[in-house]
Amino acid sequence: EAAARDITVAVVRAKEQPFTIERARLRGPRSDEVLVRVLATGLCHTDLIVRDQFYPVPLPAVLGHEGAGIIEAVGPEVKGLKVGDHVVLAYGVCGHCRQCSSGHGAYCEDFYGQNFGGSGVDGSNAIEDAQGQPLHDHFFAQSSFATHALARESNAVKVPEAAPLELLGPLGCGIQTGAGAVINSLKVGAGSRFAAYGAGAVGLSAVMAARLAGAAIIIAVDVVPSRLELARELGATHVINSREQDIVEAVRAISPGGVDFALESTGRVDVLEQGITALAKLGVIGVVGASKMGTLASFDVNNLLMGGRTIRGVVEGDSVPQVFIPQLVELYLQGRFPFDRLVKFYPLEQINQAAEDSARGVTLKAVLRMP
Ligand code: NAD
Ligand code: ZN
Repeated sequence: EAAARDITVAVVRAKEQPFTIERARLRGPRSDEVLVRVLATGLCHTDLIVRDQFYPVPLPAVLGHEGAGIIEAVGPEVKGLKVGDHVVLAYGVCGHCRQCSSGHGAYCEDFYGQNFGGSGVDGSNAIEDAQGQPLHDHFFAQSSFATHALARESNAVKVPEAAPLELLGPLGCGIQTGAGAVINSLKVGAGSRFAAYGAGAVGLSAVMAARLAGAAIIIAVDVVPSRLELARELGATHVINSREQDIVEAVRAISPGGVDFALESTGRVDVLEQGITALAKLGVIGVVGASKMGTLASFDVNNLLMGGRTIRGVVEGDSVPQVFIPQLVELYLQGRFPFDRLVKFYPLEQINQAAEDSARGVTLKAVLRMP
């Protein structure tokens, strides 16, 4: 087996506690695994809700699931990637269930185990801490809050070397989720009316995609004025500050009868319920915002029924990362998908500052550069 190496990682040791920067040891790549020297990793809201145990990923754990880097070694069964390739790391899939077999890996029957299980499918860990104790890992089949990460051939997406690799990690989750929800899941069409509830990294990616798709009305809803301003620059035709205005009334005033398509990314039940009410007839709302396990929301059955409305859960924007991420890179290089406007870089050591700035609404998409 390939040799283990010393790495630096950010660890969550206990619920709601800050990340700690630690030295650790990572085993070498096996079978279909690739060893990636991570350049930078995006911080997604999902990392923070796992730190806070909305999803019970076992702790202590190395999180991080928007990694970008360069392949340093490959396992013996890797066929399509080689040392030196630039890759963006996406979500893990089993690759052989009913959903994976029909091109819907985001709905892999083992999605939770592959991405939130805290270990490899055999139950083992690849990282141990300085005391030799295993750390929970394989987070989104990568655990990329680390100077080096193991991914699998199936979730390491080769990207062109012409693109700035340090910037690309967020394409692996938050950005492809917002853009993919609009393009792949909702299929927002030219001339249609769209609302993004939440203008964070996911919501603003959705706004940029809705502009690309040619939506006539694009409404961004948030409580942070600076995010609403940026939403306008990125393509929103209207903005609503839901601290100051009633969402349903404001949406209907802009778009009579409601909107045809909507995406809920605030993770708040009250916003979701208002978003359902503000749908036009035959309108569809995609639900991407994550709540605590067991959270319930309600809707008026007859409003849904008589309006032919749809509420639709969405994972990772239904994207097939090997197809969708290179498309987003191409649109970025052409200047048509300027997601760099969302990004602020921090050194890995400042991960807690990055998390705090994100929670306060100061930073949209923190990207952590590795030492
Ligand atoms: P974010 O924190 O950047 O965005 C959330 C936005 O909601 C913020 O701008 C916040 O100001 C806004 N908001 C909060 N309360 C509001 C209210 N009452 N009204 C209007 N806006 C309000 O987070 P993000 O990185 O964009 O992620 C968004 C959500 O999507 C998170 O819950 C995350 O866990 C989830 N997520 C899901 C998937 C998926 O595959 N389904 C993938 C990535 C992220
Ligand atoms: Zn994410």
